[in-house]
Amino acid sequence: MQVDFLIVGQGLAGSLLAQELRRRGRKVHVVDDGWKSASSQVAAGLMTPLTGRRFTLTKDYPELFAAAKERLTERGVFRSTQVYRMFVDEEQRGKGLKRTECRSCQPFIERVTSAQGELDPTLTDTFGGALMNGAWVDLPKLLADVRAELLADGSLTEAAFDPAEAVADAEGITWRALRAGAIVYCDGYKSAQRGPFKYLPWQPAKGEALTLRASVADKPYILNREGWALPLGQGVWRTGANWQWDQLDETPTEPQKEKFIRRFRGYFGAEVQVEVTAHVAGVRPCTSDNHPFMGTHPQQPRTHLFGGLGPRGTVWAPLMADEMASYLCEGRPLRPECNLTRFAYAG
Ligand SMILES: Cc1cc2nc3c(=O)[nH]c(=O)nc-3n(C[C@H](O)[C@H](O)[C@H](O)COP(=O)(O)OP(=O)(O)OC[C@H]3O[C@@H](n4cnc5c(N)ncnc54)[C@H](O)[C@@H]3O)c2cc1C
Repeated sequence: MQVDFLIVGQGLAGSLLAQELRRRGRKVHVVDDGWKSASSQVAAGLMTPLTGRRFTLTKDYPELFAAAKERLTERGVFRSTQVYRMFVDEEQRGKGLKRTECRSCQPFIERVTSAQGELDPTLTDTFGGALMNGAWVDLPKLLADVRAELLADGSLTEAAFDPAEAVADAEGITWRALRAGAIVYCDGYKSAQRGPFKYLPWQPAKGEALTLRASVADKPYILNREGWALPLGQGVWRTGANWQWDQLDETPTEPQKEKFIRRFRGYFGAEVQVEVTAHVAGVRPCTSDNHPFMGTHPQQPRTHLFGGLGPRGTVWAPLMADEMASYLCEGRPLRPECNLTRFAYAG
């Protein structure tokens, strides 16, 4: 079989890149190991405009958010939702109030509350909070839909890909019975562990999440305070997450589960009964400068990477998949801050 691009991995990156390349008339084939290590299957897919202790808006957030909204709405997986960020102290509240004066933040901040219970008397928002306009993305649906499309026309092989099996020559890549013009790695944090892009400064971080049933009324917004709780309706919530830089695997842990339950209960003033229905773990493909890794291997012109989406893949991936496809098909330059040429090759 002859294709233009062989894509390794069908997480968020591989799914959206395959779509953008096909939109440009290119023939793609995807190899994926059945989402064995897909952080996209673990992520809640939240888009939270102002983040971190300092409550900051990422530089390109408005442009990235607008593109994500358009493209993911087309696919029926974009869910506009408000996010209520409960402040942890007076200092954070001060930062929240200050952000309401910043022009680029204003479209994302609905209101800042000043006293506990102002928005909802059942919450423990002692220092008030900021109600933001955000969203979440139904990643399992996106991945399942794209997989069905690829399978329907024989464009997906379910297998564990070994980089040593891909043989490059001047015209392209041979992998098993397949001949491709080029290969694109979209294999998440696995590229940090082996293969041609291991030399890049990856900083993979494990995270866990729970799905639970709770004896608390559904809220019309995502709750956020040193973690998050996403209401899915009918008493079902997803809640997480944590950060761990060692023990990079997909194994959920008991101490983390207990921690999430405590934190979830802490969002509410009254006692809450919970029943955990799922507990998952994954590894975020984070990078040293919090920007994606995109581009071509410095010594292998037919070997490319689209990865390093970090903790905010849903924000980055839609626009960057489009830009990566333009780079691969039309030779359009990549943004310097995302091009992997910003790091020296240490082969
Ligand atoms: C707990 C947690 C919470 C998160 N929450 C959010 C959030 O709220 N919002 C947000 O935007 N982001 C969130 N993220 C981050 C998000 O998951 C990532 O940014 C994004 O999903 C990465 O997508 P990817 O396609 O690059 O990688 P992945 O989703 O990891 O996909 C890689 C794919 O390649 C496959 N693969 C790997 N190696 C091979 C091989 N050798 N052969 C074949 N296939 C292979 C994998 O099985 C997988 O299917 C979270 C992550 C975690 C872990």
